[in-house]
Amino acid sequence: MSRQRRFIVTTSWDDGSPEDLKMAELLHKYGLAGTFYIPVMNDERPVMHPREILALGKEFEIGSHTYHHRVLPGLPAREMRRQVLDGKRSLEQLLGREVPSFCYPKGKFSPKTIKCVKETGIRLARTTQAFNINPACSRFSCGTSLQAFPERPAIHLRHGLKEFNFTGIYLYAAKLHLASNWESLAMNLFDLAAEKGGIWHLWGHSWEIEAYGLWKKLEAVFQYVSGREQPLYMTNGEMGERARQNN
Ligand SMILES: [Zn+2]
Repeated sequence: MSRQRRFIVTTSWDDGSPEDLKMAELLHKYGLAGTFYIPVMNDERPVMHPREILALGKEFEIGSHTYHHRVLPGLPAREMRRQVLDGKRSLEQLLGREVPSFCYPKGKFSPKTIKCVKETGIRLARTTQAFNINPACSRFSCGTSLQAFPERPAIHLRHGLKEFNFTGIYLYAAKLHLASNWESLAMNLFDLAAEKGGIWHLWGHSWEIEAYGLWKKLEAVFQYVSGREQPLYMTNGEMGERARQNN
């Protein structure tokens, strides 16, 4: 009899850039769930046309990423609320359904932003904290396992320290030996999440995957984690709902 434990496999992709359509094709090919966090407008890079967001939303979960892709901590309370609420409502009007999940731009959040997000009825808010495979999902400061991006070990450690993510630093140092190859890290984290019955959450930016030529490597990771019997493949919002019910 199998002693394997169920665990969650989820992915999320930020910024709503046109390359998200390519990401959607790759997720579809491997039967993986994805949540796309989309700002309504972004001064830094193009956002998909509403028609494309609608098409993407037919198969995938759409989450909000504020109205203007604004870093929330430090904003006046009214502007913070407007960014969170209007970002969510605009997408809901477009899609004709609830937008359950949210992602903090640049991963920045504070007790005030958490309160603001909670008040808008969001079920899950994702951060950019890495090396998290903990089965208990913190619904309003939800960590991730890894970003699909070639980051140097020193940068991983610096981020971990800045975010007081000591559990993540321990996992990265003791179990993953400060490795720098992100595809191997992604696969090793998947194996660890499987072993511990936790959550494997890969996130990234499709525009970055395109700019750095990472599609083939990402496909190898998708191939590795897909089509298995043990995981529960779910969106970020579904994971948040599951955590809410378990609390
Ligand atoms: Zn972003």
